[in-house]
Amino acid sequence: MRFQTLAIHRGVYKDSTFNSVTTPIYPSSTFRFDDVGKTKGYDYSRTSNPTRKALEENLAALEGGVSAFAVATGMAAITAALHLFKSGDHIVCTHDCYGGTERLLRTYGELFGLQTTYVDMSQLEQVKAALRPNTKALWIETPSNPLLNIIDIHALSEITHNHSALAIVDNTFLSPYNQRPFELGADLIVHSTTKYLNGHSDVVGGAIVVKDKTLAERLQFLVNALGQGASPFDCWLVLRGIKTLAPRMKAHEKNARAVAEFLEGHPRVAKVYYPGLKSHPHHELARRQQYGFGGMVSFEARGGIEQVNQVLRSVKIFSLAESLGGVESLISHPVTMTHASMTPARREKAGINERVIRLSVGLEDVADLIEDLEQSLTSKAEGL
Ligand SMILES: *Cc1c(COP(=O)(O)O)cnc(C)c1O
Repeated sequence: MRFQTLAIHRGVYKDSTFNSVTTPIYPSSTFRFDDVGKTKGYDYSRTSNPTRKALEENLAALEGGVSAFAVATGMAAITAALHLFKSGDHIVCTHDCYGGTERLLRTYGELFGLQTTYVDMSQLEQVKAALRPNTKALWIETPSNPLLNIIDIHALSEITHNHSALAIVDNTFLSPYNQRPFELGADLIVHSTTKYLNGHSDVVGGAIVVKDKTLAERLQFLVNALGQGASPFDCWLVLRGIKTLAPRMKAHEKNARAVAEFLEGHPRVAKVYYPGLKSHPHHELARRQQYGFGGMVSFEARGGIEQVNQVLRSVKIFSLAESLGGVESLISHPVTMTHASMTPARREKAGINERVIRLSVGLEDVADLIEDLEQSLTSKAEGL
């Protein structure tokens, strides 16, 4: 089956009691045993639940893995992945990773002695130079947030495997529709399903996907032991969202490209970050390793923080909000919002300055989105 068919059919149990065509929600904390020691496959919903299982089978199929684990949030997925390591282990992480990832790595450094080095992963030499005998993983996020730098997953996976470490990819920004890291050599994928996979801004959720049975067993143990599993209601919503993942991703990209091109030609915009533009420094790599360019666009407004605030305040269709990947367009200011927990020094090193504005381009009529940006960019000129 091809991607869109898998998205609609994989993991969807045809209910034999009433012949519903969708997976029922099973909000049962516990399951009755048929006999002593004999279940129908489920005993307690922290360990496993039929609705959660349906989503997990779907996600594993879309990424081309053997197993997936649906957990309560993207951060829960990252937490589970970090529990594969122990005190004294070393992780090399991309320097412009999700702010929450950096915060968790810092916390685990303080609590458990997990060591992290941040490098610009688009520079392979920097990655190689950062490897130590105790390096156990590379933490890759591509495209990065919010500057949409592209990292060569295939090249980094080779480096990692020569070092007997794991290549871990946070695939939230593109979703498996636009990027499939296992095909490029990655070992483990994490997702915030809150974003494109669910796609309707009405759930927080996460997932871990693996292609190796041993890792699957360790993660099944961890997700149960840490108590991370997602609720059956949330799993059902994410599964429902995934059925339209392919057409949504195509439409997000179409709108994002139009917005990026509009911004690139605008006199009040200093710089546009969109991997689909020829001007993007990693455009060729993005074409090679991705199936599409996604729906996220970042840009730097000209002028100072007043001008930036004016844009953020005067948009009418874009909501000033964190998160991304929903049908409604959002605008955010990384320095004061998503990346506020990052230390200023690390932010500066990653090139995230206060003029950067991030857009999650939704599925509204793109002419309305462009008009909204036009009026917000020019209101800046009149207001000051
Ligand atoms: C949102 C996000 C996360 C965290 O996911 P939550 O569902 O908010 O916990 C992790 N990584 C990336 C790239 C994200 O965008």
